Amino acid sequence: MWRCIVFGLLTALLVPSAGFAQEKKKPNIIYIMSDDHANAAIGAYGSWLKPVVKTPNLDKLAKQGMRFTRSMVTNSICTPSRAAMLTGQYSHKNGVYTLNDMLDKGRIHLGHLMRMLGYQTALIGKWHLGIDPTGFDYWNVLPGQGVYINPKLRPIGAKAKELKEFTGGYSEDVITNLSIDWLKKRDKTKPFMLMCHFKAPHRPWDPAPRFKDLYKDVKIPEPETLYDDFKGRSKQVANIKMRIGDDFMERDLQKPIPMMQGKELRAWAYQEYLKRYLACVAAVDENVGRLLAFLEENGLSEDTIFIYTSDQGFFLGEHGFYDKRLMYDPALLTPLIIRWPGRTPAGSVNSDMIVNIDHAPTFLELAGGEAPKDMQGRSYKSILEGKTPPDWRQSVYYRYWMHLDGSHNVPAHYGIRTQRYTLIHFYGKHLDMKGAKKMDLAPEWELFDNQKDPQQVRNVFADPDYAPVLRELRMELDKRKRESGDEL
Ligand code: CA
Repeated sequence: MWRCIVFGLLTALLVPSAGFAQEKKKPNIIYIMSDDHANAAIGAYGSWLKPVVKTPNLDKLAKQGMRFTRSMVTNSICTPSRAAMLTGQYSHKNGVYTLNDMLDKGRIHLGHLMRMLGYQTALIGKWHLGIDPTGFDYWNVLPGQGVYINPKLRPIGAKAKELKEFTGGYSEDVITNLSIDWLKKRDKTKPFMLMCHFKAPHRPWDPAPRFKDLYKDVKIPEPETLYDDFKGRSKQVANIKMRIGDDFMERDLQKPIPMMQGKELRAWAYQEYLKRYLACVAAVDENVGRLLAFLEENGLSEDTIFIYTSDQGFFLGEHGFYDKRLMYDPALLTPLIIRWPGRTPAGSVNSDMIVNIDHAPTFLELAGGEAPKDMQGRSYKSILEGKTPPDWRQSVYYRYWMHLDGSHNVPAHYGIRTQRYTLIHFYGKHLDMKGAKKMDLAPEWELFDNQKDPQQVRNVFADPDYAPVLRELRMELDKRKRESGDEL
């Protein structure tokens, strides 16, 4: 593996791309990644929540830049997604499969490579990769998940348990303040990459006091599938414990769960859940606005590529669910909005399939380098400039490894998403990097025609009309799985 990494480093350092010679000045990069922010909870994405959701700054960013409608993750859960972003690799390549895995301490990732290309680098906010951050000139991170109110953070150089408490602060405000402080103090002769990782809107949804009542008197519209009956679908999906109402705890809603059942409980809990979640989003949006204003006031807007995304999507009541993990669109897709003044057509919408392993190769190309050969993503720089390469991917491989973890009961599965279809195999085994452990569930499949069934409720796996499509998709799934190096 080391040989591969060293070779990759040499490639990154010694073979600047053709674009490098033409670039007079390397662009700065601000990468904002929130935690569990679903597309549906951004006005610009135009979901059923559009009439009520308030995200003026993100909507403005979408008007100034490019909004991606098919941005996806390889594994829809926090720690693995963060590792995939930094390493440009799938979980089975970078070794971070579940929330319990750690990033390899010696691992060379995006942070190191950007420094070698002359960038000043910082990571501020949520890290959640088990080890102390590596590869950044400066970091200041929440311990684990961190908390919303009076957060504590640990800066680079501090001892393991030496945390600084920000009394009276709210996590998103504190993370933004630290980000702006770092931007002010940076070496202005060098380009920078700032990774600003918000905690919100992760569970348990504690809004900032100023936004607590933002949605108090609003009736939140319900998604079409809030009362999904899972007819014709996999038993393993029907058994998932992410049901709004039934699987919430009092700490999630910060109030006693009333004596209700079924639809009545679902409808009540949905309102409570969404009001809290969207109020947390409000602080994210406001702080995105603060960072944009800082760039403007300091003459940095033109030279800075500004990226907003999340570590994965999230269920906001679709299929009656909250949480993520499952390869259905609400969890698989992430927001991705990018503003690159003078390059990215303002107000453009792109539907190419982007994956979170593409960010690292893209940033390296933007910095005048090239991705190491062992990165599995591909640079989308030309897409940002309005030109999709003719051989851009037409399918994405996905795999979830945190099987039946007890709290959510999400089964092991892998699959592919194409522009039109989603094919998922619930293979019924507990497999991990050490191989098969046990098998206790019958394997099942689901196939959705997302064009005819965007809500993903009609499983057409056994429908004879889809037999030819299914044959092709199964071949494509095998091919993508093999190509990604996933042998289990
Ligand atoms: Ca997350």
